[in-house]
Amino acid sequence: MSLSRVFGAMKRGIAFRCPHCGQGNLFRKYLKVQETCPVCGHDNGQYPADDGPAYFTILIVGHLFVAPLFLAPFILRWPLVWVAAVLVPAVMLVALFLLPRVKGAVIGLMWALREVEGRAPGQEESELF
Ligand SMILES: [Zn+2]
Repeated sequence: MSLSRVFGAMKRGIAFRCPHCGQGNLFRKYLKVQETCPVCGHDNGQYPADDGPAYFTILIVGHLFVAPLFLAPFILRWPLVWVAAVLVPAVMLVALFLLPRVKGAVIGLMWALREVEGRAPGQEESELF
């Protein structure tokens, strides 16, 4: 496993592309993974992203977007209702924008690390059955 393989797979996931071939669509809906890649036939449904993408999205949005907002002077001057009316939709839009990209990156990472549902890390596919 090389870092270029890991980052390449994560980049393909961020671009909503199959981590295996980089051609087929990774998602069939907003967050629904296309079980089988339409181009290469790779089983992308085997990667259990679970709550990882939501966790990393909260981490990114919280640290890069919400925390710097507390340094903005309007936060203290504006009425709380105005701040909430502006920032809650803005934070939601940023989170909804990032979530499928982060999920694609997590699936790309799992593809690169060969982390497959029902298999312990390092366990080969032939050892499953
Ligand atoms: Zn593919």
